[in-house]
Amino acid sequence: MQQGTPVAIAGAGIAGLTAALSFARKGIPSEIFERTGALKEAGAGLQLSPNATRILTRLGLLDALEEIWSEPETINLVDGRSLRTIAAVPAGAFARNRWNAPYGVLHRASLQNVLLDAVTANPLCRLHLGQPIESPGSIAGIIGKEPRFTVGADGVWSDLRQHVQGAGKASFSGNVAWRLTFSEADAPAVFDATKVMAFLGNGCHLVVYPLPQQHLFNLVAITGGADPSKTWDRTLPAAEVKHRLLSAFSGWHPQITGLLQAAEEPTIWPLWAVGDGAWTKGEDLVLIGDAAHAMMPFAAQGAAMAIEDAFELAAFVANGKTLSAFADHRKTRIARVRARGAFNRFAYHARGPVRLGRDLVLSLRRPESLAADFDWLYGYEPKD
Ligand SMILES: Cc1cc2nc3c(=O)[nH]c(=O)nc-3n(C[C@H](O)[C@H](O)[C@H](O)COP(=O)(O)OP(=O)(O)OC[C@H]3O[C@@H](n4cnc5c(N)ncnc54)[C@H](O)[C@@H]3O)c2cc1C
Repeated sequence: MQQGTPVAIAGAGIAGLTAALSFARKGIPSEIFERTGALKEAGAGLQLSPNATRILTRLGLLDALEEIWSEPETINLVDGRSLRTIAAVPAGAFARNRWNAPYGVLHRASLQNVLLDAVTANPLCRLHLGQPIESPGSIAGIIGKEPRFTVGADGVWSDLRQHVQGAGKASFSGNVAWRLTFSEADAPAVFDATKVMAFLGNGCHLVVYPLPQQHLFNLVAITGGADPSKTWDRTLPAAEVKHRLLSAFSGWHPQITGLLQAAEEPTIWPLWAVGDGAWTKGEDLVLIGDAAHAMMPFAAQGAAMAIEDAFELAAFVANGKTLSAFADHRKTRIARVRARGAFNRFAYHARGPVRLGRDLVLSLRRPESLAADFDWLYGYEPKD
């Protein structure tokens, strides 16, 4: 296969766009195919931890990101009933020193726009909008030659996953995320624009942080739920939202319930995950990002893992390694991150004595010791 033969990438989400830039950095051209005709301002907030921003920095995007994100000073765990701070993990300047990369929060669409601008400006990347790929076999007919191989970066409901024998299955997790944004003026007194705040309670939690470019706060509330519809953006009638959301958060502090009560347009996001399975079809097709391993958001690592996958895939290919060597390497990391997410789910939603024990243990730990728990995750040095 000639060095100039392009890689085909299905999906221009975070994984697909980062993959195109990572291949280009290694001198490898790519053809990117996106189902939607325009990359619209979809989604809500994303947290970018230092393991992701280290890579985005290497891709030359730090200056653009610094203009549009905010770097929280701390990540606080807060009791949802009393609003008492249980623990605070330092971020901000501390993150830059400890993990040599920043911790940022921004709107998903803001990140996608930064990636898109870089892809559009790069002569090695060619983007085809409004061009779904349902089978890798269809790509040669579009670009007039066989691609080097195909990357399935087409998200949790991936079409390309159907072409990988033994691939994991997507299934509804039993949890839903409620998403809403609200203006700084409407924010309850407890919300602090210099922090990421995770409010914990019985069987549910919610996370709040600022979206600086939009001058809004982003709120994601995670509860049990039974809505497995395959959509990112389903708006429910306000009355039903109030009933379902408020019953999950009943007994929480009035600052929180008052905000939920006043919410006008929350969207519901059913949380689907992709289980373990194969990621490759020989040397022809490889899955990355949510297509390979969509995970629950309890460790806030969905976008970060997509970014790591994309960057390391380009490194493996440029270094002459096989797609299956890449997949084996990444699966170890993904398994550890998933395990951390499962632990957080247990700890965040704890009830009764487990909750009391959690609060006691966390409140006794110093900030540096809490931060040390994240060294393996945030300090990750990707293959390059
Ligand atoms: C609309 C949307 C909103 C989201 N909002 C949030 C959010 O607010 N907060 C959060 O933490 N995470 C959000 N996510 C998920 C988050 O972006 C992903 O978990 C993470 O970034 C992994 O990205 P990915 O590129 O693997 O998948 P995705 O971000 O899902 O991107 C997949 C891309 O592939 C395209 N696609 C799908 N099928 C095909 C096909 N057959 N051919 C070509 N293209 C195809 C999709 O249109 C999409 O652009 C959202 C995802 C989407 C698509």
